[in-house]
Amino acid sequence: MKNVVTRFAPSPTGRLHLGHAYSALLAHDFARDREGMFLLRIEDIDPARKRTEFVDGIIGDLLWLGLEPDGEIVYQSERLSLYADALERLKEQGLAYPCFCTRSDIAKEIAASAEAPHGPDGPIYPGTCRTLSADERARRLRDEAHAWRLDVAKASARAGPLYWEDDHTEVQAEPERFGDVVLARKDAPTSYHLAVAVDDAAQDVSDVVRGRDLFAATDVHRLLQALLGLPVPHYHHHPLLTDAEGRRLAKRNGAPTLADLCAGGTDPEKLVADLRVGALPAGYSVGGG
Ligand code: GLU
Repeated sequence: MKNVVTRFAPSPTGRLHLGHAYSALLAHDFARDREGMFLLRIEDIDPARKRTEFVDGIIGDLLWLGLEPDGEIVYQSERLSLYADALERLKEQGLAYPCFCTRSDIAKEIAASAEAPHGPDGPIYPGTCRTLSADERARRLRDEAHAWRLDVAKASARAGPLYWEDDHTEVQAEPERFGDVVLARKDAPTSYHLAVAVDDAAQDVSDVVRGRDLFAATDVHRLLQALLGLPVPHYHHHPLLTDAEGRRLAKRNGAPTLADLCAGGTDPEKLVADLRVGALPAGYSVGGG
């Protein structure tokens, strides 16, 4: 049987809260129950939002909870050349194109269109730069900031029907719903989707245990795996923790951070034991997503 490898892959853009603890615990226990490895990957590719103090916070919080990761901690910011190689392969297949649009160009175009199709993450990119002529593309590439997008219709047609497994239930991928997703941002040489697909393969992750908020995004990851010839892990999307108002836990909704709980005298062993049996602090429940 293949060795089980799971990972917890937070972005260091804030301190962890109870929802993160729950996710990390499930990934940790999934591996531990199968004598597997539990990895920590810091998804620090957003230059504007990542902060070193949050990286330190993540590591400290996991240790406080007793969820010690195995092996080396992997930092995506140190792996940019791997993502660049993957992007290059997609370009060579004619599946990626440069996009010069600003956020406001995209918003204007969407506002002006009679029917702006929506995907799981909101209105989808209208495809403005997909149809630029080769000449215009070459000219603008020389001196304009640009992102790279996946031509999702072409890529899906090339890959054919794709499936992935969520807790042993087969799911048919429909990545077209997302439109032409970003593969490399203007301000970062990769995107979440590309980096996660590359890294889950590079780290031999066998089982991706993560929140249901990323269920739909798995369709995009599955497509990238097919295009790049990467192995397909098993997925286990768990329900999200919600607060008394039924909202997903988030800092903006006032969710206390693990650092707050620690400072308030919470016993981490008891917290973890309670989370394991779904006994959440008053006001919280498992269920969203
Ligand atoms: N970095 C992502 C986040 O913090 C999670 C990535 C993943 O688990 O695939 O939401």
